[in-house]
Amino acid sequence: MTRTPILAGNWKMFKTRAEAADFVGRVKQEMFAVSGVEIVVCAPFTALDQIAAELTGTVIGVGAQNMHDADEGAYTGEVAPRMLTELGVRYVILGHSERRAYFAETDEAVNRKVHSALQHQLIPIVCVGENLEQRDKGQTFQVVEGQTQAAFQGVSAENAVRVVLAYEPIWAIGTGKTATSEDANLVCGQIRQTIAKLYNEETAQAVRIQYGGSVKPDNIASFTAEEQIDGALVGGASLDPASFVKLVQGAAEGASRKS
Ligand code: PGA
Repeated sequence: MTRTPILAGNWKMFKTRAEAADFVGRVKQEMFAVSGVEIVVCAPFTALDQIAAELTGTVIGVGAQNMHDADEGAYTGEVAPRMLTELGVRYVILGHSERRAYFAETDEAVNRKVHSALQHQLIPIVCVGENLEQRDKGQTFQVVEGQTQAAFQGVSAENAVRVVLAYEPIWAIGTGKTATSEDANLVCGQIRQTIAKLYNEETAQAVRIQYGGSVKPDNIASFTAEEQIDGALVGGASLDPASFVKLVQGAAEGASRKS
């Protein structure tokens, strides 16, 4: 089974509309030259309509970084899935560790959002990963297994294959420390086994699992060359246009070493 690697930039709370427009203007032509990688930019809500319009007809997809699970309602400050799809948004990051840590997002909330995203034809990029304390205690697998099981709760096998998982060890996010590619490969393989247990081997082989946490242009290929790793979710290094282009090229180069 060949899985198309997916490289997603997570801009977090960076870039105004003007800055976002400048970024996409710089990268969109260059991306046609890279094949074999699905490319996504996850921008702040305020820039989504603009970049989705700018990127129409290009190979770059647009993602949000969060959403509410309800179709509409009295939820001050929240954004509903239909408000995203109307703009041309096709992906949504769910359960990022920063949302879990700073905005009290629970496994149950993430699961509700996964159902909602799938229902609205959005591709969820679901983040899982252990913190340093859990890693030191040898609980990495237990933590990611629990988060993975919770995320897929009640999701059919048919829908499960549309979900992208991002294994992001929390201690590696924005710290300049990465898991070794071997370690990340091992954990992604364990996540795949969890999916096989929840569904079956075929489903597990179809689900894409990214690595995230201090991925840079000079280390991305080492991750995407690993058997179990299907691309990357990148924060800091995705903000600069030249760096983003190199990330996409590096992801493709690493993936090409796989077969
Ligand atoms: P980083 O962030 O690449 O800046 O470590 C990754 C993420 O949080 O998705």
